[in-house]
Amino acid sequence: MTRYDPDNIFAKILNGDLPSERVYEDDDTVAFMDIMPRADGHVLIIPRSRARNILDATPQQLAACMASVQKLSHAVMAAFEADGVTLQQFNEAAGGQEVFHLHFHVLPRHAGVSLRP
Ligand code: 5GP
Repeated sequence: MTRYDPDNIFAKILNGDLPSERVYEDDDTVAFMDIMPRADGHVLIIPRSRARNILDATPQQLAACMASVQKLSHAVMAAFEADGVTLQQFNEAAGGQEVFHLHFHVLPRHAGVSLRP
């Protein structure tokens, strides 16, 4: 597995070199809107500390992310009056990962509405 790249896009968002629409932050995680949302209210949750993906993360990083994923799931469901929520998470290029800083997608869902491609 390739090592963590400190110049990845989400690292730049974390340190303020790139703008993002932050919707939540705590000591360990940050959440911001996905720039190409596949559903209204599509949010990304990332750890503040370095992890390339789930294969590289510590149990503590994963626990912090999942606590925020649950908070954001409740928040986007309420804000977008959604019927459900889909979580997505990709690891390495072959697993569909495009940005190599651990992140979780939270996608509010409405009954009968497909995700955008
Ligand atoms: P993944 O690595 O999970 O396959 O895809 C990366 C996700 O990050 C995509 O949903 C993409 O739209 C999002 N993304 C890529 N670049 C940016 C960016 O500069 N800002 C934000 N907010 N999201 C981004």
